[in-house]
Amino acid sequence: MNKLIIIFLIAVAAVFASCSKNEPLNPEDSQYVYVCTSNSAKTYHTDRNCSRLKNCGQEVLEVTRKKARENERIICSDCDKRDKKSDKDTAK
Ligand SMILES: [Zn+2]
Repeated sequence: MNKLIIIFLIAVAAVFASCSKNEPLNPEDSQYVYVCTSNSAKTYHTDRNCSRLKNCGQEVLEVTRKKARENERIICSDCDKRDKKSDKDTAK
């Protein structure tokens, strides 16, 4: 009986260990970004109100940054600049 409990606990621990390995190490990867579903769009945006995103004639989807990168999207240059600026501001 006790052995079963120990085996069960080891199994639970193993499941937790494997789960945590699958989690993104980079917090940026789980951040939500916005992509235009237009075929010509090659970028993703960190700001929902980005002026370039407003030019998207198609639907705008909210996806993780990881997903956007998997779809070979690169960060919009405007959003990139904005992010870097805010990083600098908060770094103080
Ligand atoms: Zn943008």
